[in-house]
Amino acid sequence: MKKRIYLGLGTNLGDRQENLTRAIEALSLALGTCKAQSSFLETEPWGFESDNGFLNCVVAFDTELTPTELLDTTERIERELGRTVKSTGGNYHDRLIDIDILLYGNTVIESERLTIPHPLMHLRDFVLMPLAEIAPDTVHPTLGKNIAELLEEIRK
Ligand code: ADP
Ligand code: MG
Repeated sequence: MKKRIYLGLGTNLGDRQENLTRAIEALSLALGTCKAQSSFLETEPWGFESDNGFLNCVVAFDTELTPTELLDTTERIERELGRTVKSTGGNYHDRLIDIDILLYGNTVIESERLTIPHPLMHLRDFVLMPLAEIAPDTVHPTLGKNIAELLEEIRK
């Protein structure tokens, strides 16, 4: 059974437009046709200091991959696009591309490698704004509110 998944993409180094475009191409090769794509959104670095602003977007795919296979795929694409450093212990830094799994159908996962829904997605405008463009009515499986409502909450 295919699951609708939403991925959050971010980049703050090099040709950011090209980094997002290449990531979406690589994801499409691995996962099939991209079902929805938000616009690219210019945002401030979040959780760390940097002179380099981010370009973010959210994309949707339907996939048969398991969550772990999906993470293997997104991490492989991050590596192929030249990302070498991993964030550890909440230390954020500049990066060519970051691909986060935001939602995987209605599935809830808490494992060592994966937390789904992404634990910070409902707090981040750079996730909720593009996600609200393409999936405003999608309900967050643990918070029980849709994306448009979650965005409204952080804007209060
Ligand atoms: P961040 O995205 O927080 O900047 P990384 O991309 O370096 O940091 O990811 C750190 C770790 O987060 C990865 O090793 C991965 O196993 C874990 N992780 C947990 N949940 C998720 C998720 N929903 N999507 C992507 N990575 C996740
Ligand atoms: Mg990540």
